[in-house]
Parts: sequence; structure tokens; C-alpha cells
Amino acid sequence: MLNIIVFGAPGCGKGTQSERIVDHFGLHHISTGQLLRGHISRQTELGKVADSYISKGQLIPDDLMLDVLAAELDEHPAEIAKGVIFDGFPRTIPQAEALEQLFAKRGMTLGCVLGLEVPEEDLVQRIIKRGQETGRADDTPETIRARMAVYHSQTSPLCEYYKQRGQYRAIDGSRTPDEIFADIKSELEK
Ligand code: AMP
Repeated sequence: MLNIIVFGAPGCGKGTQSERIVDHFGLHHISTGQLLRGHISRQTELGKVADSYISKGQLIPDDLMLDVLAAELDEHPAEIAKGVIFDGFPRTIPQAEALEQLFAKRGMTLGCVLGLEVPEEDLVQRIIKRGQETGRADDTPETIRARMAVYHSQTSPLCEYYKQRGQYRAIDGSRTPDEIFADIKSELEK
């Protein structure tokens, strides 16, 4: 069972590469951002709370995020057994620690963390373009600035966290999607 994390700043291509990995390796894709956007569009109670954070570019509180993730794992036991790609989770050190406990409880192990590394100027341009193409509500210039600041303060320390554990694999995410995926494939086939 292959469980991996796709990691990187907003706009680094996590979603695009996750879809390719799912198609190629048949893993179950868990995007916490997509789960939250689903709640927002269904106007659930959780969706209302999530929207108040997402629209400001802030992170959802860890305990809430962990409840959403645990519910998702409980709902799809057969798919989870094939292996999971975590896209957009963890985003804080406490989330990473909680994931470790969740894995231990469920007999799952982490294969590796694929870190998609892209220069910051390119990230902002990519997100602005995505906002224009998809109309994603949090892809606006003010929200992008907030999300980048949150990434630097709360999420990027995870790089070091996983490097220390020997689980971080740096991927140059500034190239074409095909080139990036070729690297990911050879990393995962090792
Ligand atoms: P994403 O689609 O991964 O870019 O996530 C969009 C937004 O959802 C983020 O800017 C956060 O507000 C929220 N979000 C997604 N994943 C998490 C997470 N693991 N922890 C906290 N908030 C999250």
C-alpha cells in the first residue's frame, strides 16, 4: 500500500500532479481543499465555518480539519486500502503529528512526501491565471498574499520536519506538467 503526501505552496501544481498520480498508480485522492469546497457548495454547517477562513486565506483550525479527514478515511475503507495521496494535508506541524497517529492506528505507513518546489513569482502568476480560468473564490490578489504568508509561517516548516525523517523528496515544479510527472513516476517506482 502506497501512501504519499504531495506538498508545496499554493499554486505549485499539487492538484494537477495528484490527478496524474491517481490515474497512473490508482491511489485514492484526498484533497482537503476540495473536501472543504464541497461543504461550502452544499452549504453545510462545516462549510459555513470553513468559508469564513478560506475566504480570508487562513487555515481551518487543526481540530476541525482532522475531524473532516478522519470522516473521509472512515467513509472509504476499500479505496483507502489501495493507498492514499494526501493533497493539501498536512499544512501544520500538529496536523503532521496527528497524521502519524492516524496512520499508526490504522496500520498505514507513509511512503514519501513529494515536495513540488516553484519560485514564488511563478506561483503568484499561476494562481492569478487559475482564478481567471476557474473562478475559484480564493484565487484573488489579496487572498493569495495571505495564503503565501500562511504557507511561510505555518506550512513550510513541514519541509524540515519531513527532511529530518528522511521522507522528503524535492521535485522541481517549475517545469512542464509532463516533465514533473516523469520525475514523480521515477521517484514512486523506486
Ligand atoms: P487548497 O485547495 O489545498 O489550496 O486549499 C484551499 C484552502 O482550504 C486553504 O487556503 C485553507 O483555507 C483550506 N485548507 C485546505 N487544506 C487545509 C488544511 N490541511 N488545513 C487547514 N486548512 C486547509
